[in-house]
Amino acid sequence: MNVAGPLTSQDAIQLEHQYGAHNYHPLPVVLSRGEGVYVWDVEGKRYYDFLSAYSAVNQGHCHPKIVGAMVEQARRLTLTSRAFYNDMLGRFEQYVTGYFGYDKVLPMNTGAEAVETAIKLCRKWAYEKKGIAEHEARIIVCENNFHGRTTTIISFSNDADARKNFGPYTPGFIKIPYDDTEALEQVLREEKNIAGFLVEPIQGEAGVYVPSEGYLKKADALCKEHGVLFIADEIQTGIARTGKLLAVQHEDVRPDMLILGKALSGGAYPVSVVLADDAVMEVIKPGQHGSTFGGNPVAAAVAMAGLEVVKDEKLAENAAELGAFFREQVRAYSETSRVVQLVRGKGLLNAIVVNDTEEGDLAWNICVALKENGLLAKPTHGNIIRFAPPLVMNKEQLKECIAIIVKTLKSFE
Ligand SMILES: *Cc1c(COP(=O)(O)O)cnc(C)c1O
Repeated sequence: MNVAGPLTSQDAIQLEHQYGAHNYHPLPVVLSRGEGVYVWDVEGKRYYDFLSAYSAVNQGHCHPKIVGAMVEQARRLTLTSRAFYNDMLGRFEQYVTGYFGYDKVLPMNTGAEAVETAIKLCRKWAYEKKGIAEHEARIIVCENNFHGRTTTIISFSNDADARKNFGPYTPGFIKIPYDDTEALEQVLREEKNIAGFLVEPIQGEAGVYVPSEGYLKKADALCKEHGVLFIADEIQTGIARTGKLLAVQHEDVRPDMLILGKALSGGAYPVSVVLADDAVMEVIKPGQHGSTFGGNPVAAAVAMAGLEVVKDEKLAENAAELGAFFREQVRAYSETSRVVQLVRGKGLLNAIVVNDTEEGDLAWNICVALKENGLLAKPTHGNIIRFAPPLVMNKEQLKECIAIIVKTLKSFE
């Protein structure tokens, strides 16, 4: 097979199957082009993208401003490593700290790396600022969390697939139920050496679990009361996805550490960051943490463009408005549906729960049918389908998408 020539979907799937590790189970669609809310497969069929690469493509596919910034910077300088200064990183650091309101930023590449960075910062802060004895610091996490795939992060996951046979696991984490401030308060009161509380403002991978109103506010207050860092993983919920710039802003919470990734670059390039104030960030000294690609000039240029698009195009406002409309419409359908049990979400991060077990194939079959009807979505945890289109969608497009979703669901009633 000539890899430079045209490929059918079957060819592409076969190549991945034969030569790639089988660590994903994709829908059988092979994409070769994207623009805004649309993607096209190799046969030229157009789809609405309702996954947005797990919310990395909030600004829409191949946004011209972001791609333009990337190409321009790539022509000039791509990578210096942090052994030398470059003329883009400082600009980005000033921009991103001003944008989110923190003293300092630590740039990395992937989401999991940023979570690892936050964990390291939190532990170091606990030893050097809080006076916890070395090796004793513990971080509270939530059941059903998703924070990435590194060895340490899967150590505190409770997803059997993510964990099994990857041990021994990293110690130092205490797991409590999500959306349970009593459990948090109890651990903070009874356990020693707690350094931080790491939480997703909405649990995306778990199935778009929106906690009760006031949860984040109360959890943040408890952390402050006990001198523990409140660490928000906004890799999926941040950057306008839930109808505000950050999901914590729905409850006026300002995390001690903020973790961002995914849509920071509009899906053009892997860029992640940890933001914090000096009191936390100053514990990191030269040689103690880093990444060859972290803070490279292309990442800096792309992330600035990505964040500018979010402001210029008022994506948070659009997500809030369209999200409310989406839930209202799909909820109205669900009332008479035997297939859809419920609809939940915030902004344009939504999910439906279908009437099936986690092991059943109803959600998968619905997603295959949605694909046939021109809309791409993916099940999470068996019986949940996440709906998260790019935030550059307009209302006419969303109405067309709701019609596709309703038509498809009807065929399963
Ligand atoms: C996607 C995601 C991550 C991991 O990001 P990667 O770039 O895949 O490493 C971490 N936390 C949350 C909440 C995510 O959605």
